[in-house]
Amino acid sequence: MIPYGRQNISTADVDAVVDVLRSDFLTQGPMVPRFETCVADRVGAAHAVAVNSATSALHIACLALGVKPGDLLWTSPITFVASANAGAYCGADIDFVDIDPTTLNLCPLALERKLVQAKAAGRLPKVIIPVHMGGLSCEMDVIAGLARTHGIRVIEDASHAIGGSFRDTPIGSCQYSDVTVFSFHPVKIVTTAEGGLATTNDRALARAMELFRSHGVTREPAEMEGLSDGPWYYQQIALGYNYRMTEVQAALGISQMARLEPFIARRHALAKRYDALLASLPVRLQTQATHHYSGLHLYIVQLDDASRRSAVFAALRAAGIGVNVHYIPVHTQPWYRAHGHADSVFANAEDYYARAISLPMYPDLTEEEQDYVVAQLAEALAA
Ligand SMILES: *Cc1c(COP(=O)(O)O)cnc(C)c1O
Repeated sequence: MIPYGRQNISTADVDAVVDVLRSDFLTQGPMVPRFETCVADRVGAAHAVAVNSATSALHIACLALGVKPGDLLWTSPITFVASANAGAYCGADIDFVDIDPTTLNLCPLALERKLVQAKAAGRLPKVIIPVHMGGLSCEMDVIAGLARTHGIRVIEDASHAIGGSFRDTPIGSCQYSDVTVFSFHPVKIVTTAEGGLATTNDRALARAMELFRSHGVTREPAEMEGLSDGPWYYQQIALGYNYRMTEVQAALGISQMARLEPFIARRHALAKRYDALLASLPVRLQTQATHHYSGLHLYIVQLDDASRRSAVFAALRAAGIGVNVHYIPVHTQPWYRAHGHADSVFANAEDYYARAISLPMYPDLTEEEQDYVVAQLAEALAA
């Protein structure tokens, strides 16, 4: 089976992991801070907080921004459920903003209209989580402007997007947001097996996320109530979690980050080939405007004829191609339907979902495999 996404593990990655296994620290050693610095430097952010998943990073970002029961959080309906769940963990009510059908990202015009209505109704969201679908940045300058006008905080879900940029600024620099979150799941661009990381330029937000990552416990006398009892002393000053990344994961991440540029270049070369090979087929592609450089986690086609999607998907799977669909609109999930979204309609998201298929996209995909995928797709579309 040719998968839709897959990690690339080098001898250097294996050596880095083995070295840590033979070292003094399997957790809470020097590798995690080193990995944080490595990512922060690459994306141009002041601070980075590494955790055990992007889901955890989204959760501690929401906690650090003070999301609490009764607050409202908006995200895109076309995302993995974790983007919305992060707010739900904090007790917030979740709502969605429809996508732009060409970029597949949260639509800035739909956001503006919804904000006007929300303001009139006296219920603005506390946080918006734009999701960089497939690695393509949302229109962050517009979103940041709207957020500033209405006093809303922004968390970028850049789980698909490390190595990408928007208006020549690396995704993760937080030029247009309070926090940016990355995922290092093996299907994503860079992997730590499981893992995630939040970047920010706000020292206080970074410190709050560090506390929520590790039980809300501090060893800093300056952060304690009263005086420290001694060098052994710690205090729990918030209700945190154990969301820590291990040294093994961080060492793998550092080693992987050294290949970020070739990973992204290979993804772009494959995407360019797909674009050319698919040009005459009845499919639509995600628009890639010139002020964007995508991380290209996903390569998505939308069938002109939505009624053919199931048959085409089945034919590709039968041909040994591990196609997938990203994503089922979150507001249609049973848990969200049970939490007030039963009648929600996001027409562009639902139309997109009916047509979408993610084709294989990962650095080790060969041109022969890619030709096979396109030939099988063409045959299935013609059947
Ligand atoms: C993968 C993903 C997540 C969750 O990442 P984990 O590291 O698996 O927790 C969140 N949001 C989006 C958009 C993702 O694709």
